[in-house]
Amino acid sequence: MFWEQDIETASRESLQALQLARLKETVGRLAQKSPFYQEKFRASGLNNDSIRSLDDVRRLPFTTSADLRAQYPDGFNIVPKEDLFRLHTSSGTTGKPKALFFTRKDIDILANNFARCLTMVGCKKSDVFQNMMTYGLFTGAMMSHYGAEKIGMLAIPAGPGNSERQLMLMQDFGTTVAHITPSYALYYANFVEKKGLNPAKDLSLRIILVGAESYTEETRRKIETAFGADVFNCYGLSEMGGPGVGFECPAKNGVHLWEDTYLVEIIDPKTLEPLPPGETGELVITSINREAMPILRYRTGDLTYMIAEPCPCGRTHVRVARFKGRSDDMIVVKGANVYPQQIERVLMDTKGVGRNYVIVLQGLDEMIIKVELDAETFDGKVENLEKIQKSIVEHVRSAVQVKPSVELLAPGTLPVSEGKTKRVIDNRSL
Ligand code: ZN
Repeated sequence: MFWEQDIETASRESLQALQLARLKETVGRLAQKSPFYQEKFRASGLNNDSIRSLDDVRRLPFTTSADLRAQYPDGFNIVPKEDLFRLHTSSGTTGKPKALFFTRKDIDILANNFARCLTMVGCKKSDVFQNMMTYGLFTGAMMSHYGAEKIGMLAIPAGPGNSERQLMLMQDFGTTVAHITPSYALYYANFVEKKGLNPAKDLSLRIILVGAESYTEETRRKIETAFGADVFNCYGLSEMGGPGVGFECPAKNGVHLWEDTYLVEIIDPKTLEPLPPGETGELVITSINREAMPILRYRTGDLTYMIAEPCPCGRTHVRVARFKGRSDDMIVVKGANVYPQQIERVLMDTKGVGRNYVIVLQGLDEMIIKVELDAETFDGKVENLEKIQKSIVEHVRSAVQVKPSVELLAPGTLPVSEGKTKRVIDNRSL
């Protein structure tokens, strides 16, 4: 199913022609109106005429998260104040946020892109969409909400948390599609089971959209099994307009990024040179269809590679593989580079392991994995528990070259946050 078949299946040539026209227009406007980019263009000898082919994007300056913060509150905005229509901010970190402005047209384009994503995974006008992401300054819930409304789904702005109320809404209004963080999805499955219900049989969910956190295939499988629903990965970042930047199609192999809105590159994070399809590097995105604050070559920090093969779904827009993690998620323990996802993969693949875990670093580089078991296993035989503990220690050690200690906990013991769940707690005294 397509929302806009023509553009979603456009030929490479016509997509690239559109991208080049939009890139030129974007650079032209920035050269005229953005003091931040004027300065950058001057420093690298660029002018209005510098973009002649798509490859010339390499001549443009990178933009970083730090640049956006430094230009707070409105250094990146290039339209008159009265044309601004919405303000969002980035989430998560301390200090000043990144201020993100949108015009009416910007919001409309993003909502339309999200409608494409929803249609791609099989959502229809007749679906009931329970949006369990955070509403407010964060883009995650608002942008997807407007996408759902474009299609005409019944949208329920539930927000996260309050599982009792979520369940009531799901049961009373027959929710068929949920948008939720993966950690909350796992927690919520436990909650529903504790009520004596079977989430796969007693709820009507058929499609679950997960995003806003990194998670593994093993976690996706757990969510699919628990709810008996199709789980799709959405990739978004507020800096690029929120949750519909990239989305999985029914092929479930990588996310498509909408190339009429974004110009996509993968670069080597050390040399900053572009990498060919198949080679892993940092995802860099240029917004080419944005009025209020176009951003050139934004360094996302997400590590992935482009998939060269055409997608069986028929869409021609670029696909990037499942993310290998964020470069800033990486932790160094005893000199080894460790991605929390490597540990999650081991945990979620271990029989008897439940749905929540946390990695605690303490003392002099000590790693403790606290992991919940499922109820049956936790109440079962002691020798089984010892076996699970040993198996986790061994598999984590071979995956990340660090030997952890492992604490096994009862289901529902670890806290779950309403927004992004913190998987690593670093209390080291180093
Ligand atoms: Zn596809």
